[in-house]
Amino acid sequence: MNTAVTYLDYNATAPLKPQVAAAMRTALDQTGNPSSVHRHGRLARRLVEEARDQVAALVGVPPRQVVFTSGGTEANAMALAGLVSTGKVTRLVVSAIEHASVLETAAALPVETVILPCTPDGVVEVENVRACLAAPAPGGGGTLISVMAANNETGVIQPVGEIARAAAEYGAFVHCDAVQAVGKIPVRFAELGVHMLSLSAHKLGGPMGVGALVMKDDLPFAPLVHGGGQEMKRRAGTENLIGIVGFGKACALAAEDLPALAALAVWRDRLERGVLETAPEAVIFGRNAQRLGNTSCFALPGLKAETQVMALDLAGVSVSAGAACSSGKVTVSHVLQAMGAAPDLAAEAIRVSFGWNSREDDIDRFLSVWNETCVAKRRRSEGRTAAARS
Ligand code: PLP
Repeated sequence: MNTAVTYLDYNATAPLKPQVAAAMRTALDQTGNPSSVHRHGRLARRLVEEARDQVAALVGVPPRQVVFTSGGTEANAMALAGLVSTGKVTRLVVSAIEHASVLETAAALPVETVILPCTPDGVVEVENVRACLAAPAPGGGGTLISVMAANNETGVIQPVGEIARAAAEYGAFVHCDAVQAVGKIPVRFAELGVHMLSLSAHKLGGPMGVGALVMKDDLPFAPLVHGGGQEMKRRAGTENLIGIVGFGKACALAAEDLPALAALAVWRDRLERGVLETAPEAVIFGRNAQRLGNTSCFALPGLKAETQVMALDLAGVSVSAGAACSSGKVTVSHVLQAMGAAPDLAAEAIRVSFGWNSREDDIDRFLSVWNETCVAKRRRSEGRTAAARS
């Protein structure tokens, strides 16, 4: 029996880097609450602030602009709800390919929400943002635009800087969910020109359950979580010291790893050539757009994504379905549908994503296992259908 295990689901969560685990183990021995004034508290506070410096350095901001959260989902919710709750924003403009944490937060807020389309290659176009901003927001309030830096399913990189420049002409606020981009491509807050940026530690080799919202100074903002005065009154609650220490360390390491991660595009291209050689009918999503080097999303027409994911899993290869699966219910990817993929094709898409601990032979293993399980299964069922017809 082949017991090899190949993990190719880094966009879901990347493995914890050993240096991060070591930093977190040291933090586990701390007793103090970072808000306490005694020596134990002061030491814990120092660890939190060192981590804040490391996170801030990765995206090029002063540390005071970093607000720690419980992850990307909370950072996204805080960005949208935080501005809307002030009453100064009366319209949200979000792209159709955003993560559910943006789309569903927008839907839950009591303001008008405009959904921006994308091209068939999965790119949100600045012209559509302009067209939308040309009409005033209801009640004369402001507009908040939320566009992600890179899509989690397709890896397609979005023109956030261009969108932010257009938004500035209309005085609109811009939030960017950079959860998938940070640590994979350079992301600098000031260069993007956005007002808020969401980050999550577990996508870059840090722990799950911790992230940050990077905020411009002097934004109109109402906290989502009320209570103590932590995080300069922007997010109450005792800090997740161990998680924050791990997040900081992951950010410090991510800066060094950026060139290696960009080079993963060579493997991705080799993977996609292999996919098309094995199954010329396969459809690769976002292929003509600028993409993250670590992500490939493609459909094998005629074989459901869940069947592919399960067959690969049985052979020790972990990937995701392009369709999101939560609480046992599989829903067809809204991202691929926004790109114009027919629901049947979108339901046949899988996502392969790799990262800091991947090896080139993971690509070979994926290709041979996918060929032996999924493509062969598809050919057999095609053969049966042809035999039944004849
Ligand atoms: N935004 C994007 C683009 C994501 O891919 C994810 C996670 O998959 C999130 C937000 C949510 O982040 P977290 O898992 O830290 O809540």
